[in-house]
This record gives sequence, structure tokens and C-alpha cells, in this order.
Amino acid sequence: MRFAAAAASAVLGAVGIAAPLAAGAAGGATTFVQAGRVLADPATGRVQSDQTIVVRDGRIVEIRAGFVGAAREGDRLVDLRGSFVLPGLIDSHTHLCHENGPDDKINRVTKTAADWAIDGAHFASITLQAGFTTVADLGDENDAIFALRDGIAAGRVPGPRVLTSGNVISPHGGEGDVYGYRPDVTKVIQHPNLCSGADDCRRVVRQQIQRGADLIKIVATGAVLSDAAAGVGQQFTDEELRAIVETAHMLGRRATAHAHSASGINAALRAGIDSIEHGTFLDAESIRLFKSHGAYLVPTLLAGDTVTRWANDPHTFLSPQAQAKALQVGPKMLEMGRRAHAAGIKIAFGTDASVAPHGTNAREFALMVEAGFTPLEAIQAATIAGADHLGLAAEIGALTPGKAADLIAVSTDPLQDITALQRVRFVMKGGMVYRQE
Ligand SMILES: [Zn+2]
Repeated sequence: MRFAAAAASAVLGAVGIAAPLAAGAAGGATTFVQAGRVLADPATGRVQSDQTIVVRDGRIVEIRAGFVGAAREGDRLVDLRGSFVLPGLIDSHTHLCHENGPDDKINRVTKTAADWAIDGAHFASITLQAGFTTVADLGDENDAIFALRDGIAAGRVPGPRVLTSGNVISPHGGEGDVYGYRPDVTKVIQHPNLCSGADDCRRVVRQQIQRGADLIKIVATGAVLSDAAAGVGQQFTDEELRAIVETAHMLGRRATAHAHSASGINAALRAGIDSIEHGTFLDAESIRLFKSHGAYLVPTLLAGDTVTRWANDPHTFLSPQAQAKALQVGPKMLEMGRRAHAAGIKIAFGTDASVAPHGTNAREFALMVEAGFTPLEAIQAATIAGADHLGLAAEIGALTPGKAADLIAVSTDPLQDITALQRVRFVMKGGMVYRQE
């Protein structure tokens, strides 16, 4: 199942517009990126030395052996001869318009959509600076994320290209509902995407797509950071899950499910969900279903690491309910990553940034390596696999002719030391330079 062409082009249509650092080469002019070492196609794992990446109109035209200079007036030269170059990174699970913290509950009733949008612009910029040139945003408080996505695509705001679900779809009384407010306040701030029963769930999927969602995000099980004391088990019925997935696919959207418990993971996979976020308690049956359905897992190890730290903090800001769930889920995630990797299921890199601070996304790589991934496998999850998972394999994920010129550079070889990706020195997105040290 691919995204509708219109949705993808709405996001990608503005390749090559914004240019905070450098105007870029416009009107047929060419940018020559001289790379000391380059991992052009992570699928091959092949690192080449002394190459020149030729960029025109925001796209990669060719990669030439040796260092080629700018011949014509107006052409640009980018000197990365001392650096290691690789494709721009893809984080398949972020929440760009906020960061979790002690003020979560009050923010919900004090911040306007405009506040969330301005916060989102700030976090989007930080994310791009950290080398993430594409993200999936899987749910924020309101529609600010749609404005942010479109503003970035139009070149008005620096940030990664964004695919977003907008608000999550949740059952009434489920993880996506709101807790801890007076009933009259709850009524005002409750998300519009709560549903009960198959027909009602079809309705909210259609409604969310009408509002601008590129993909559908559902909450298939309880979650750590809600104040619901409902555990982390299955929350939608099988019938509701089938209705949601069928409607999303009918309207040309992928559907991804937040899921911790094996019952919730397996029910969502049986219903034909395209991917699972977190996957904490996946079991042998989950692995069989992932493989037979070709579904992706987005492990979000960084979120597990972060909530475990919070829960163990004697001065934690988590509610008692959230703390209990954090201790139940967080410490298990690395082991889940290990099992998923060993089983050979398809994995896309995702952090759940907003739990950990935006801009620290690359810390996920080190956790993946700790869970048994080779550095190359971790990079593949954030490039070619992420592109395939988001339906953008023709556009991004590798530095091959015809693809968007999304590339980053670091000083040292990330295949030797994966933490090198936490120190990105150069960022180009759609042929435009956003960071250069
Ligand atoms: Zn999330």
C-alpha cells in the first residue's frame, strides 16, 4: 500500500526552495559536493573514497569518481573532502510540536494552536540540524502539525520533510483519550478522533484524512505516558481494527499502530496494519505475523530508555499510573529490539522524539547497536528501510541519480563508531544547505 500520489507530492513538491544558509544552485546551475568518503547506497554497504556528488534542481544527477570542480559561473562547490557523507536520515516516529515534561498537563489547557505551531517550527529546525531530513510525525495536540508540514514544504520554515497522521485515532477511554481534568474541561480538549464500534471508527479515519493526514496512526494498546490506569493491553476490538485498516487503505493511506502488548500487536497485524510502533512485548506469533504480512516494526528504543530514566527518578514528574507503566515497558525495549533483530523482521528507525528531546534522535543508533544491530544495519533502518516504510523509496534513502539531494556529513566513519551520527556537521535537503561547519 502506497501513499496517495497527491499526499506524497504535497510533501515533496517544495524540494529546493528554502535556503537559510546558502541560496543553492538554481535555474539549472549545479552543485558539486566533493566527498572524502561516501556511503551512497546503504543497501550495498559500499563505502567509496574521493567522489563528487553532482546536484541539480534539488536532485542527485550523478556521482563521479575523483574530485570534480565547479566549471561554470553560478555553479557551487561544497568541500567535504575531509568528511564521511551519507544519505539524510529518516526518523519514522516523532511528535514535532511538543516535548514531554512536567508541564504536559497544564500545556494542554493553556497553549493555543499557534503556540504549538511555533514550538513545532523550533523543534523541526533542531531535527533538521541533527541530520534528519525526513520524519513521520505520529500525533500532536491539534492541527498545528499540518500547518508546519505545509510551511516546511513551501520553504517558509526550515525543517525535515514531514509526513503526518495528525491526531491519533483511539477508542473512547483508550490511550488517546484525555485524563485528569474536570469533565467540563475534558469535553473541550478531547480529541475529535475517538471512536467506538466499527462504523464510528471508519468515520474518524475518513475525517482524519479529510483534515490532511498523510497516514493513519492508531493506538492499539495502552501507553506509558497517558494517565489512564488501563495497562498496556489491546484496546480496539478486532472488528474496529479491521474497519480502520480497511478504510485507511481504501483511501490510499498507510496505517500504523502504537502497540506494546503481544495481544494488541498481533490483533493489529492480523487486521492488516502496515507497521507497529514500539512493539515492546512482541512474541513468537508476532514475529510470524510480521514476516507473513511484510509489516515494519519501529522499535523506539530511545523512548524506552528515556521513560525508564524518568520512572527511576525519585522526583519524577510522571503520575503514579504513568510511572508504573514506564517501569513495566521501558526496561523491556532493548530486549525486544534484540529479539526483533535476531528474527530478521523489517525494521524502520524511529525514536518517538518528544519523549527524548528533539535533536537527540541519533542516540537511537547506539541503542540499536547495543541491541545487536551492526552499524550498517542501523543506518539502513534510517535510510532505505525508512524510505520504503514511508512509501518514499523512489525519492529518498540513498544517494543515487534521480533521488532528492538529501545528504549529511560527519567527521568520522559511523560504520566504525555509530555515535559519529550524533555529531552531524553538514546537512543538505533538496539541494539546499542547512548546516555547514
Ligand atoms: Zn509516539
